[in-house]
Amino acid sequence: MKDQYNRRINYMRISITDLCNLRCLYCMPEEGVCKKNHEEMLTFEEITKVAKIAAELGIEKIRITGGEPLVKKGIVEFIGSLSKINGIKDIAMTTNGVLLKKYAKDLMEAGLKRVNISIDSLRPEKYAEITRGGNVYDVLDGIQEAIKLGMAPVKLNIVVIGGYNEDEVVDFANLTKDDDVEIRFIELMPIGQAGSWAKEKFISNETIKQRIGNLIPLPHQPSSPAKYYKLPNGKGKIGFINPISSHFCGECNRIRMTSDGKLKPCLHSNQEIDIIDIVRNNLPQLREVMKQAILAKPQQHYLYTEGFELGQRNMSEIGG
Ligand code: SAM
Repeated sequence: MKDQYNRRINYMRISITDLCNLRCLYCMPEEGVCKKNHEEMLTFEEITKVAKIAAELGIEKIRITGGEPLVKKGIVEFIGSLSKINGIKDIAMTTNGVLLKKYAKDLMEAGLKRVNISIDSLRPEKYAEITRGGNVYDVLDGIQEAIKLGMAPVKLNIVVIGGYNEDEVVDFANLTKDDDVEIRFIELMPIGQAGSWAKEKFISNETIKQRIGNLIPLPHQPSSPAKYYKLPNGKGKIGFINPISSHFCGECNRIRMTSDGKLKPCLHSNQEIDIIDIVRNNLPQLREVMKQAILAKPQQHYLYTEGFELGQRNMSEIGG
C-alpha cells in the first residue's frame, strides 16, 4: 500500500531478537542487553501472523534482523514458514555471519534468498576489538559459504569508525576485485551506544570515496539506500549508504517491527505502535492498526532537527 506521501511500502524489516553473540562497541553495551522475559517477546508463530497481514497490505519483501537472528532457536523453520506466505517474494537476513557457515544451506533451502553480513574489520585483532571478542575467520567462512551457495548478491556492511577501521577502506574495496560481492559503507549513526560518541568518530562516505579514489558510478537502483560504484575491472560493487549526510527518506519503502512487537514507521523516529497484545489475543484490529502504522510514516527523519531527541534504544533492539 501507499503511505500518505505516495511512497509504496512493500518492505518490512523484522527484528526477531535483541540478543547477540557479539558486542560491537557502537551497538551494544559490554554486558549485553537485559534479557527480556519470554512473554515480552513475539514468538515465531506470532511474527508469522503479522507477516501474513503485512503481505495482504502489500509487503513483498521481508528482512530478518536482530540482535543476531542466527542465535535464535528454530530460525530455519521460521524462515520456512515465512516463505510459504502468499505475496512474500523475497526473504533476506542481516547477520554478523558468525554462525552463517553452519546454517546457510538449510536457510537457503527453507527460502532465504540473500544475506547482508556485517563485518567492520578484516584484521583478526581489530575485529575482536570492535566486536569485543569476535573471531573474523568465522565470518569470512560464512561469507565464502554464502558465495558458494549462490546467495547472490552477498552484501557486506561496514560501519567506518574514526580511529578504528578507517585505514581499511581500501582493503574492503579491493574485495570487489575478484569476488562478485557488494561492499556497503554505512555511516555511523548517533543511535544508542554511539549516541554520545565524539564527532571525530564519524567518517563521512565522501571521505571514504576520496580515499578509495578511481570509482566508476553505476546507475542508481530506485528504493536502494545505497549509491553504487565499481572499481575499474572490479567484479563486485561498492555502495555508500548515507543515512546522515544525505538521507533517502523520499524513496523509503519500509516499515519495521521490533522483537517485542512494536511497529516502527521510521528508524529515526521515537514513534512506536505496540501490537503485541493485539497479536497475542487475536484481536480483529491488527490489520487496521498496521495500516495506520504505514500511514503514520513521517515524510522524513528529523535526526538533525534542532530540539529532536532520539530515544535510548540501541540498533540491536530496533534491528539495523
Ligand atoms: N547482528 C546482525 C548484524 O550484525 O548485522 C543484525 C543486527 S545489527 C544491529 C545490523 C547493522 O546495524 C549492523 O551492520 C551494524 O553495524 C549496524 N549498526 C548498529 N549500530 C549502528 C550505528 N550506530 N550506526 C550505523 N550502523 C549501526
